[in-house]
Amino acid sequence: MFFGMGNRQLNRVQGGKKLTLTCLSCHKKAPFYECRIDDNFKLYAVLEVWKRTKRVLQCGECLAVSDYYDVFPEEKDLAEQAVSQRKQQEAEAKAKVAQEEEKQRKRQEELEAKQREERVRQKDLEVQDELAKLKKKLGK
Ligand SMILES: [Zn+2]
Repeated sequence: MFFGMGNRQLNRVQGGKKLTLTCLSCHKKAPFYECRIDDNFKLYAVLEVWKRTKRVLQCGECLAVSDYYDVFPEEKDLAEQAVSQRKQQEAEAKAKVAQEEEKQRKRQEELEAKQREERVRQKDLEVQDELAKLKKKLGK
């Protein structure tokens, strides 16, 4: 797959892959270099709304680029695995946070219930105290 550069930013990957391929664009046997294309989508000229990085191989002769995973399809699976692994880790981390919040909420409820009990007990004591005083008065 070949595509124009447009406003994209292309950077050669240092220590990246280098291999000789016959270019589909210029039809020469040429060294291809691993590069990254950064797509920046901008809104109102200043706010960068999102950035996407694409792995490509660039022809050393005509500078045409081809999709990295078209040449190394076996690495696409690995990259996708890494992405799904990261998503799973994120989901697990989220679940853990939710669990902690639930625990915290329960602890709070228990505490409030205990405080309510304590207030009721205190009120009972006060009432009993009042009654005792009243009895004492009446007894006199
Ligand atoms: Zn070429």
